[in-house]
Amino acid sequence: MQSAADTLVTHPPNVRYLTGFSGSSGCVLLGRRRRLFFTDFRYRRQAERQVKGYDVRIVEGALLSGFCAYVRSRRLKLETLGVESNHMSHADYLLLRRRLKGTRLIDNSGLVEKQRRVKSRREVGRIRRASAIADEALSRLRRHRLTGRSERQVAWLLESFMREAGSGPMPFEIIVASGHRSAMPHGVAGERIIRKHEPVVIDFGASVDGYCCDITRTLATGRLSKRQLFIYETVRQAQQLAIEAARPGMACAALDKIARDHIGAAGFGDAFGHSLGHGVGLEAHEQPLLAQKSWDILEAGMVVTIEPGIYTGRSGVRIEDTLLITAEGAKPLTSFTRSPLIV
Ligand code: ZN
Ligand code: ZN
Repeated sequence: MQSAADTLVTHPPNVRYLTGFSGSSGCVLLGRRRRLFFTDFRYRRQAERQVKGYDVRIVEGALLSGFCAYVRSRRLKLETLGVESNHMSHADYLLLRRRLKGTRLIDNSGLVEKQRRVKSRREVGRIRRASAIADEALSRLRRHRLTGRSERQVAWLLESFMREAGSGPMPFEIIVASGHRSAMPHGVAGERIIRKHEPVVIDFGASVDGYCCDITRTLATGRLSKRQLFIYETVRQAQQLAIEAARPGMACAALDKIARDHIGAAGFGDAFGHSLGHGVGLEAHEQPLLAQKSWDILEAGMVVTIEPGIYTGRSGVRIEDTLLITAEGAKPLTSFTRSPLIV
């Protein structure tokens, strides 16, 4: 990747990371001699309150047009400008190219995402609070009967528990996948009524000051068959092996392999079709990637999920926790019981 003298940061989580601004319309011009934050009239107050370490500029009209007008009116010399191509629409790219004549646009994708991988104590504190809210929501949910309720009703119960406990917006749509739908790794809650003796995969998160956690538990609405219990135990062991092995300096691909080999040895090699996990922070899915083909290396201060699963044609089991990588190993932030639970 080439390096640009100036970088334009437009992806909202990246803008928030750099400046503290939580609104939806803001961008940052980051250069050797300048640190400017742009927003529009609607966010003037919010920017004054939240943005730290950047000079705030209020632009008129659409954000990027306003940014270009500012650059031209101040005659800012931008010979090269790095942009986040991985988050920028083609229309916005063309607009920049048209309006910033004489500026060479280069791809600076991932620059801020890399910085976001290792969390500060403050960031970890927020993820820890979000995790406690998610754990507590599961504790409340297990006191309710799931049989006879629709998946959507269960999702709403969970969300209301988390909102009451102080969670911000849900980081992603809650997954409640029951019965045969549990075989769909991303089966968002639907109209299906949960029946007795079924697995129910529940995957969700809370957020605190923009920081998320991500947790999955597979509950059962009655006794499971021997085979279902064997699958559950295999997933639980695979997760435990990976949690025990995780430490700074370890290749994420090697960690993925530990869980995958265990599931393969139990005869379900083809039934674990997704990656082992991912970073969590301002976004529910961020770097590093814990996968077979990942080049990432674990570092102390990273917050990641470990979430093996087995999906047969008829049903699925996934167990996921959010963990902090420390010098002493991985410390779970979400800690609701992983024992098989009948609800
Ligand atoms: Zn999840
Ligand atoms: Zn996840």
